[in-house]
Amino acid sequence: MTVEMVRPMRSMRPGMKEVVGDLYKKYGQRKPMGESSPSTWQPHFFLHRTFLGDQDLLIIFNTKRCKYRCHFCQLPAKSSPTLIPGSEIVSQFSFVVKELKHSLSVLDRLTFSTEGSVLDASTFPTEALLEIAEGINELRRVRTLVLETRLEFVDIDVLAQIREIAPRLSLNILTGFETHDPYLRNQVLFKREPLDVFERGLDRVAQAGAQLTTYVLFKPRWDMSDEEAVAEAEASIDYLAAQTKMRGLDFSVRLNPMYAADGSRWAKKAHVSPDYKPPRLTDVMRVAEKKRQEGVKIYIGMSTEGLDDGSNYLAREDYSPSLIKPVLLFNSGKIDSFSGYL
Ligand code: SF4
Repeated sequence: MTVEMVRPMRSMRPGMKEVVGDLYKKYGQRKPMGESSPSTWQPHFFLHRTFLGDQDLLIIFNTKRCKYRCHFCQLPAKSSPTLIPGSEIVSQFSFVVKELKHSLSVLDRLTFSTEGSVLDASTFPTEALLEIAEGINELRRVRTLVLETRLEFVDIDVLAQIREIAPRLSLNILTGFETHDPYLRNQVLFKREPLDVFERGLDRVAQAGAQLTTYVLFKPRWDMSDEEAVAEAEASIDYLAAQTKMRGLDFSVRLNPMYAADGSRWAKKAHVSPDYKPPRLTDVMRVAEKKRQEGVKIYIGMSTEGLDDGSNYLAREDYSPSLIKPVLLFNSGKIDSFSGYL
């Protein structure tokens, strides 16, 4: 008996390979990030993704821009200069849940960002956040709500109201710490968040019973040596570990290799510095591995959010695409060591 090969039907329409490949490219894990929303009724970005073992829905809402102008960040430059009303921000959430209607029953967690601070009521009205919380409460599997914000905007009463509306939720405050070094914070990054303000924010996060996730920038100064960058990142993580421990605060770190954000003041200074070299991913991996072995919950931020000007860890001589897989395994908790990969 002969077996006839079943061949895909061909016609003038695009083949399945093209159709699915194109959709995957546009809406899969590599969905382009960094573009501004075409409308105030749609967020800048959203993605249903697996994140550290959770089914996470990330939404970057389209709101009025952040009032700060940190020298390493270009987000305010692409955001609205005027207030986007709360009703339109709520509509952005509606837009996303309608787009994802077939996935709603598997979501474990939601991550809310803006190009500023979700808890800044002058850009994201509290009433809008509370109305969205009512919707989240209908998503029966969702257990965690991550809110990205500067700590000065953490308001215990607002967090308590969210909890009252959606009692199943654990709240996780996601914030950019960047570095423990006051000079780097103020003079290099121009963050305008002194350490005592950050620490008072930690007090409120702890009082609210929320968890903390913090970004630490690896090599926040352009003229640091690779060795200085390692020492600086370790000291920043140690500072966070000590500060959260004394408050009984559960915390994790996203260690972000510094990139030059296109057009930022930081990037302009870096590119005229003869000593500028982006971080080495292998150094980032070694620090992350060491800190995890010391008990810190840590993962590595690989994304430049579509905002870099090409100066990032990919440009260093140690980089190889073969490093991506172990970083992804490390981030998902499948390995705790890079032994055999570095
Ligand atoms: S890093 Fe945060 S606070 Fe600073 S300008 Fe960017 S969005 Fe605003």
